Amino acid sequence: MRVGTVREIKNHEYRVGLTPESVREFRAHGHEVWVEAGAGEGIGAWDRDFEAAGATIKPDASDIFTGCELVVKVKEPQAVERAQLREEQVLFTYLHLAPDPEQTADLVKSGVTAIAYETVTGPGNTLPLLKPMSQVAGRMSVQAGAHSLEKAQGGRGVLLGGVPGVMPARVAVIGGGVVGFNAAQVAVGMGADVTILDRNPEVLEKLGIYFEARAKTRFSSEANLAEIIAEADLVIGAVLVPGAAAPRLVTREMLKTMKQGAVLVDVAIDQGGCFETSRATTHDDPTFVIDGIVHYCVANMPGAVARTSTYALNNVTLPHALRIADMGWRKALGADPHLGAGLNVNAGQVTYEAVARELGYDY
Ligand code: NAD
Repeated sequence: MRVGTVREIKNHEYRVGLTPESVREFRAHGHEVWVEAGAGEGIGAWDRDFEAAGATIKPDASDIFTGCELVVKVKEPQAVERAQLREEQVLFTYLHLAPDPEQTADLVKSGVTAIAYETVTGPGNTLPLLKPMSQVAGRMSVQAGAHSLEKAQGGRGVLLGGVPGVMPARVAVIGGGVVGFNAAQVAVGMGADVTILDRNPEVLEKLGIYFEARAKTRFSSEANLAEIIAEADLVIGAVLVPGAAAPRLVTREMLKTMKQGAVLVDVAIDQGGCFETSRATTHDDPTFVIDGIVHYCVANMPGAVARTSTYALNNVTLPHALRIADMGWRKALGADPHLGAGLNVNAGQVTYEAVARELGYDY
């Protein structure tokens, strides 16, 4: 099969669908790979690296859309890209169709077979192609929080790990799932005094076993939250209620109980945020201050560490992409219901129930 990847054109998107290492794997499986010139520049993967891995560099994205049977990307196709999609072509990328009627209509019209990373499932109701981005965001949240705690950023001037003879910072992580676990790992590693809150007893138990005495766990009741937030230097919001907007766990009233210069990092901002005072920000202007509390609410945190994020994403997408190329999409999706759950649009039909229901398509 001929497989291709293009340079991402969404604003501030530096990740790329295939790394040179992934190209090498496709070549080893006997596939041809076309890469748009400059596609990997954002992560320091140069055309010569792709060529050394066996790819053919093509000058324009249109070459890839015209010539490749499987296109592997990162972000949902933009309007000019959608106009080039066609029947008998498979698109494998993040799509997030439910809130995007325009994109859905274009994909339906194109006749393309669109498989969405975010709806591919794994054992035990997991979403393995979303997980690495949560891992990245979780780890980054502590980095962002530590920086925001510096005086020049409006923070209270506290070093996360303290120094010998001086107390470390208190970090509260609300939600102990993928983001929260990764945040806690980094905060513990930096020597902070960490408390993780969750409502799921099984999650609390797993965290307790993993962290032992290195982090505290608390049930996420209103009373516990209020107490822990009042004492915290850094609060990381990492809750998720599947299929729903994030619960507003920290109210504006509660900010008054916090220490001046404390920092809130709302990783759940992509689901509306779990602090009442949150609003989405960008990497260009990531923070704002309300009632003396610094808020960091960047909705696409992994974009800032595009190289790490690209490699993390390729680690989980490559096995699926290889199977699609090796077996053809019909057989590959038929043989693996988890990959099958990724099919969102095919041959002019919306094939994912939640998207069809949300946007009024027959299913
Ligand atoms: P997850 O499902 O692995 O974990 C969520 C956790 O929240 C679960 O353990 C759940 O029990 C817990 N929870 C639910 N309600 C709670 C409450 N009231 N109090 C405490 N805990 C509660 O989800 P995840 O992968 O860790 O993702 C967390 C959030 O981060 C999601 O909204 C996700 O979309 C978002 N995210 C944002 C970015 C970004 O760039 N901003 C990147 C990746 C993920």
